[in-house]
Amino acid sequence: MTKDLSIDSIIALNNGVEIPVFGLGTYRMKDGAETRTAILSALKAGYRHIDTAKSYGNEKDVGEAIRASGIPRERIFVTTKLWNADHGYQKALKAFGKSLKRLELSYIDLFLIHWPVKGIRDETWRAMERLLQEGECRAVGVSNYMIRHLGELLEISATIPAVNQVEFHPYLFQEDLLKFCRKHKIQLETYCPLTRGRRLDDPKLRSFADRYSKTPAQILIRWALQHDLVVIPKSSHPGRILENADVFDFSIAEEDMKALDSFHENLRVSWDPTNVQ
Ligand code: NDP
Repeated sequence: MTKDLSIDSIIALNNGVEIPVFGLGTYRMKDGAETRTAILSALKAGYRHIDTAKSYGNEKDVGEAIRASGIPRERIFVTTKLWNADHGYQKALKAFGKSLKRLELSYIDLFLIHWPVKGIRDETWRAMERLLQEGECRAVGVSNYMIRHLGELLEISATIPAVNQVEFHPYLFQEDLLKFCRKHKIQLETYCPLTRGRRLDDPKLRSFADRYSKTPAQILIRWALQHDLVVIPKSSHPGRILENADVFDFSIAEEDMKALDSFHENLRVSWDPTNVQ
């Protein structure tokens, strides 16, 4: 797939639903106008995948921008997530309905458990299965699940999560998790692919960027794509939204991919689920 990657590339999830490999993250797009402008810019630039969550407080604006774009709903892949306070069977069903209402959409493409809340996440998964069976969402998955959490889920349910969305970049190259997900046909999706900007000035990364005549952000995005990950960089700025999408006219050589893998330093710029029981 790598060779022919384009902004329209998709991956088939384990239930056959197709997810665009490249999308727009929306965390910290708080203000309504900021969110709407960013999403409209992204859709204009060819993005067809938007990642939001109840906790980002912008579902309403995401939905508004999607409708304002004039692009048919079925051509845009929308992910939202179940917040931690909404775990539990009935609460999860209710929270899903509220997300749908805020987005003003008739279905969600991918609904994720945002975080593996202790003690109650398995019950929540039952609600996710029901939403899937009833066609309220096209795929269900999890986020911030480590191997242990995934193993537990695979034991209690025949519904394998379609996606696990986790922090993943060369500075946090979670190879074992990636292998586990591949083995069980769980698509790994990377958040914070740009390290939230923390490593964009790293001289090691810059030297790769210079060599490929690309920016550090573009190298990080392309690296994720070449690992067959789904990647959702966030930017509120039209210029960077374009820059982040301009990653389909080059490819990183195999030896350079390996060199980037070796940047691993266990850096986490978001929350760390390692010790969640
Ligand atoms: P990213 O790694 O995508 O980095 C976003 C930051 O980088 C912003 O500050 C942005 O600033 C800046 N940026 C974007 N493009 C460039 C560029 N080309 N050059 C320099 N700086 C740039 O971090 P996120 O935390 O936003 O992760 C991506 C998405 O993943 C989120 O938006 C969210 O949708 C999802 N996510 C999910 C989580 C989960 O628990 N499931 C946790 C965290 C994120 P600016 O906007 O000003 O351009």
